[in-house]
Amino acid sequence: MTAAYRTEYDDVADLQQRFESAHPQEILQWAAEEYGQDLAVVTSFQPTGIVTLHMLSEIAPNTPVMTLDTGLLFPETYVLIDEMEARFNLNLTRVKPELTVNQQADRHGDKLWESNPDQCCHMRKTVPLKQALSGFEAWITGLRRDQSPTRSNIPIIARDARNDMMKLCPFANWTEDMIWTYIHAHDLPYNDLHDQGYPSIGCLHCTQATTDSADLRGGRWVNHQKTECGIHVNLADEVRH
Ligand code: SF4
Repeated sequence: MTAAYRTEYDDVADLQQRFESAHPQEILQWAAEEYGQDLAVVTSFQPTGIVTLHMLSEIAPNTPVMTLDTGLLFPETYVLIDEMEARFNLNLTRVKPELTVNQQADRHGDKLWESNPDQCCHMRKTVPLKQALSGFEAWITGLRRDQSPTRSNIPIIARDARNDMMKLCPFANWTEDMIWTYIHAHDLPYNDLHDQGYPSIGCLHCTQATTDSADLRGGRWVNHQKTECGIHVNLADEVRH
């Protein structure tokens, strides 16, 4: 265990048990009190992220928020980010890669997302996020167990060894229906692309509309085996540690 963990090693199992039946608001409240400004929300402004930010706006509105701006997001996504930032006065950082899209093309080849999407995600998402999270003690994500088989066992709280901090998924137990019910009940904004057949929205060149509404991660990297961008790569390892 490193000194960076405010949550003691023995506490994690107890918290996992306690949070299994807790409402996300209770988990967010606990996280805000436990970590304060050392807590960061990382969101791509998909529906679970929207609900997270709405709840936090009432619990701890100045919580640092990060979003990975790869430079390759949909125009609709940039519009939504601006709208959410203004509406909730977010303490938002747009985390950008070291290389612009053109610099990446010059050094690593044009359309790297087609030839080597893992490398592209590594440079445009994983590395910048790790750098941005440095110094924080915990991060919140919008992962849910109903989103895919690889996410079906994610813990609500776990030690994130890669980033040397704690990782929380307060909505792990929520379903897609619960998220959308909350969004509509509170009249929250969401990405227009969801109404155009996009259940999950990432970068422009790696996301397509799909007719399979049951596949909540459908349309992502459709011509590749890839199912995750890499920032949550240790999903199986995170389960009970
Ligand atoms: S989702 Fe696609 S374009 Fe975006 S960083 Fe990953 S490979 Fe590159």
